[in-house]
Amino acid sequence: MVTARVHSIETMGLVDGPGIRVVVFMQGCKLRCAYCHNPDTWDQKGGFEISVEELIQKVKRYKIYFNHSGGGVTLSGGDPLLQPEFVIEFFKRCKEEGIHTTLDTSG
Ligand code: SF4
Repeated sequence: MVTARVHSIETMGLVDGPGIRVVVFMQGCKLRCAYCHNPDTWDQKGGFEISVEELIQKVKRYKIYFNHSGGGVTLSGGDPLLQPEFVIEFFKRCKEEGIHTTLDTSG
């Protein structure tokens, strides 16, 4: 079972990609940008653990909003690419569910 550490999940996000989005702020970032808005995402051991399937079940509840607005899911952070296996598996599951994906990374 692939899991990730996540800082927080924001529903009804409007600025991190097209349409209405669920924005998942992944835990962990190795950069230290001077004007970082999310320094509490830096610690790779912080946040909470969630599996791909648990996150898919949460996200699927918003499909009606995605479909009417051209939205979907954004993985942000932190830097999602510090947990690449999770990103790959989660996005594959999103595609199976017909959910649009966006990756917000410093990479
Ligand atoms: S890449 Fe993003 S999360 Fe990481 S320090 Fe910079 S602004 Fe903060």
